[in-house]
Amino acid sequence: MSEQAVIEVDRAAKHFLTKEPGSYRKVRLKAVDGVSLSIKPGTTFGLVGESGCGKSTLAKLILGLEPLTSGDIRFRGVSLVELSREQNREYRTSVQAVPQDPFDSLNPRMRVLEIVAEPLRQVSELTADDRRRRVAEALEMVGLPPGIERLYPHEFSGGQRQRIAIARAISTRSTLIVLDEATSALDVSIRAQIVNLLSDIRDQLGTSYFVISHDLHVVEFMSDVVAVMYLGKIVEMAPKTELRDQRLHPYTQALFDAIPQPDPDDPKGEAMVEGEPPDPAHPPAGCAFHPRCPLAVERCAEDVPLLREVRPDHVVACHLVD
Ligand code: SF4
Repeated sequence: MSEQAVIEVDRAAKHFLTKEPGSYRKVRLKAVDGVSLSIKPGTTFGLVGESGCGKSTLAKLILGLEPLTSGDIRFRGVSLVELSREQNREYRTSVQAVPQDPFDSLNPRMRVLEIVAEPLRQVSELTADDRRRRVAEALEMVGLPPGIERLYPHEFSGGQRQRIAIARAISTRSTLIVLDEATSALDVSIRAQIVNLLSDIRDQLGTSYFVISHDLHVVEFMSDVVAVMYLGKIVEMAPKTELRDQRLHPYTQALFDAIPQPDPDDPKGEAMVEGEPPDPAHPPAGCAFHPRCPLAVERCAEDVPLLREVRPDHVVACHLVD
């Protein structure tokens, strides 16, 4: 029997109604459009794609911060909308996030102890002493020295603040941590330290990660499975090694070909695929990538390619891939 997934996303869709510029008309923007994936215990699922493709909206759906328009998300086999009060509490403590900006994400008026203990408030059976012990354990695990619990965020560097944010996420012994560009605001050497720390935590605690990053090196290094998203849909998904050897979708190839060389003056350097991404409120007909695709044929402007398994565990949405 296959292992129960921590999170299963099943044809999830999130649509927004937005106003057309210069008009009162509203249009439907399909930020996430029929996405399915599953995250197994102790594994890392990486999601890549250009800004605005729907990655962060998907992260919010998994964190339960946005309701779905359609489809389903299940936590340990139970739909998020059907969780009992007790299951919902377990979901809220087990699924945590590490935000992008370590300078914005920590409340400047709270001490480290209160920040790291914040998610533990959901765990009612813990005493104040238990909470302090859990905070000390979490801080030690992220490599911060003892005795810092009474300090405030401004007394730490960016890398240390991100360690505090990670300590907060693991203090509940979470089973899944959502990392949405969690290393992007850090400079290159600190970024490497945080990525290694996250790998160590995964090995020690068996935590799963859902990693979103425009830094394809980070995603490739950390992930077991990588999915590529374009205009709200997954266009290719495969185990990391398979995707490294066999990038079958033209967009995946373009994205990885466009990885910039590491540049200390531009640590946030994003892969720039040729051509402008289309307006998500007015997506092109057929394959959404066709206006930018060097291999597009007539059919691509008319028929939407379906996501199909073309090799074991390797799915692609392209008319030209058999
Ligand atoms: Fe390119 Fe056509 Fe494949 Fe879309 S379906 S990626 S346009 S070849």
